[in-house]
Amino acid sequence: MGLKNAQILFPVNVPGAFDYAVPDHIRLDRGAFVFAPIGKQMKLGVVMGLDEAEPDRELKEIAEVKATRPLPEPMLDFIDWVAGYNVASPGQVLRMVLRSWKALDPSPVATLYEPTGERPLNVTPARRAALDEGGPFPARASDIAKRAGISAGVIKGMVKAGLMRAQERPVDPPFEEPDPDIAGRVLSPAQAMAASELVTQVRKDSYSASLLDGVTGSGKTEVYFEAVAEALRQGRQVLILVPEIALTQAGLSRFKQRFGAEPVAWHSAITDMERRRAWREVVQGRAKLVVGARSALFLPFAKLGLIVVDEEHDTSFKQEEGVIYNARDMAVLRARLEDRPVILASATPSLESLHNARMGRYAHIVLPERPGAITLPDIGLIDMKTHKPEPGSFLSEPMVQAVAERISRGEQSLLYMNRRGYAPLILCKACGERLRSPDTDSWLVEHRATGRAVCHLTGFSMRMPRECPKCGAKDGLTSIGPGVERIADEAQTHFPQARVEILSSDTTATPDEIKARLGRMERGEIDILVGTQMVVKGHNFPKLTFVGVVDGDLLMGGADPRAGERTYQTLVQVAGRAGRADKAGEALIQTHHPDHEALQALVAGDREMFVGVEMAMRDMLGLPPFGRLAAVIVWGPDLKKTKELAKDFLSKAPRADGVEILGPSEAPIARLRGLYRRRLFIRADPGVNLSKYMTAWRARQKRIPAKYKIQIDIDPQSFV
Ligand code: ADP
Repeated sequence: MGLKNAQILFPVNVPGAFDYAVPDHIRLDRGAFVFAPIGKQMKLGVVMGLDEAEPDRELKEIAEVKATRPLPEPMLDFIDWVAGYNVASPGQVLRMVLRSWKALDPSPVATLYEPTGERPLNVTPARRAALDEGGPFPARASDIAKRAGISAGVIKGMVKAGLMRAQERPVDPPFEEPDPDIAGRVLSPAQAMAASELVTQVRKDSYSASLLDGVTGSGKTEVYFEAVAEALRQGRQVLILVPEIALTQAGLSRFKQRFGAEPVAWHSAITDMERRRAWREVVQGRAKLVVGARSALFLPFAKLGLIVVDEEHDTSFKQEEGVIYNARDMAVLRARLEDRPVILASATPSLESLHNARMGRYAHIVLPERPGAITLPDIGLIDMKTHKPEPGSFLSEPMVQAVAERISRGEQSLLYMNRRGYAPLILCKACGERLRSPDTDSWLVEHRATGRAVCHLTGFSMRMPRECPKCGAKDGLTSIGPGVERIADEAQTHFPQARVEILSSDTTATPDEIKARLGRMERGEIDILVGTQMVVKGHNFPKLTFVGVVDGDLLMGGADPRAGERTYQTLVQVAGRAGRADKAGEALIQTHHPDHEALQALVAGDREMFVGVEMAMRDMLGLPPFGRLAAVIVWGPDLKKTKELAKDFLSKAPRADGVEILGPSEAPIARLRGLYRRRLFIRADPGVNLSKYMTAWRARQKRIPAKYKIQIDIDPQSFV
């Protein structure tokens, strides 16, 4: 072997890989993990390339290769592509891949204990507690002790007495294997047809993309389970991406039911140990079924068979910090590099995906109805100009009536209000002062449950003041507008006997609390659930027959060209919660703009009408999917200098046909965490390689002062 040169990528934000010499005694593969010197330090990096060229200069030598399995080839390509597409450095992307350094070493071992089966009659109460404690075994002495309420020393004594057995075992054992052949539900003819199309794609053993487009409750999950089962039968691994919110809730139990094993979960809330275990098992090809949030896309699957992106339209697939990327789009890219199928599932596909389906780039698999006799909810509008609630109230008379009807029939209602807290604005009646976040361009929101005033952008909070911080007027502060807490209060006033609960990230912070509340809802122990977007995703509440949208206009307006699309998607999803079991559902939306096309399309149950209007508008303006968009945010601590930097950056824009630049101008959130924000938008014709254009532009800006930042966002979803 005459390999002389290796290109090593380190997980840091530098433009690319560095060249190193490979000493004769070291055998290397692409993707291997190595230690190599940087300055005076040894750092862990990955071999991105190898070549035999005699180096033209003195190179430092690689010091050591780790015994871990190398990153698979498609993963290396994926790192480069993600970086290129999103105008990031490959090292930053590698850092997302290496979320768990410890996973590169074999699992640590620990002494684990289990009962031997001996159960003598006269044992001490502490030993009895340990024997009766139910498991799971084997477990650490400290865990058994904690569960049994005894001290760990007792367990060790039990080994001597022959009651417990001790063994050295890996702390991170392999996961249970899912079983693809447990029978799923009997599919309806339409579902069976959709499933068989997807299974065919999986059998083809090559890249394909399918849009599984089915109304809420049509059984999309049941259908893609068949494709998952097929990939598992091939002995391959499956990745299912879901919005983060779906992971912390009951969602995982469905996988267990269908495949007999808990899937491997990957999201922001898992522990380091779970992360290490998952990563190691994935790279070894042993973790077969992974359900994760967007970051799971960067797991190094050894033998990926299928990717599913559930709720593909969901905005939480977009990462807005660090490497800015859209996991939905990157999932399609990854499937292409792996040469394997990807399924995008949604009841309300993004216009981009619908467009791709129409252009024949994605197979379009449609489930037009719910199985059996279950129908979609009727959707109606309440014009708030004619049905004005009392001042300080937010529920109109028809809305209250609709809830009253459900209560009298023993059915449940959901009031949707996508705003946490009690009221979005705190105003001083004496001087007109509005309470602001100290270093951010945003109002403070009153949270009555905790008695605090909170900034929803930064998380800043302070005790709710009694007097106006500006004029000092006592008891002058008043709350304007509704949040979930206020709506819950109002509902309780209308229905004093009703069981009213709130589901939002403040009131239900831990996964257990969420599970408990959803459980009560499922069992019919709540009459009125008031919730934020947390309630929107994939729950089945059999007794829920009414959904009231308190403010249907909340998502409209602003500078976001996708506002109409978001409104439509969210409302379809919210309304879709009603009438899932055997009861018909109804949804009512309070609005000041009943003529808005998104709302009209909802009432008519006519998605095509909405999509048609929206597509025509996008086409006319050259917006996605008929053109490309990028955004630039220039951040800095000094307003004047931030403005200058933004202007300077604009002056460096390369000339190109089919590219338009708007701005710089003040961002809607003009200041965040003490930094000013200026924005540019770049619109390009479909033929323009916008990533390449932005990379070239960024490279021309050689100097950025410390504490200033130029952030580039390809295909922006956020316009704030
Ligand atoms: P979607 O993902 O399209 O919203 P789900 O797959 O979650 O739909 O299905 C909605 C509900 O209907 C679930 O409770 C599911 O178990 C049930 N369901 C779907 N298809 C069938 C079927 N063929 N037979 C029985 N129940 C079904």
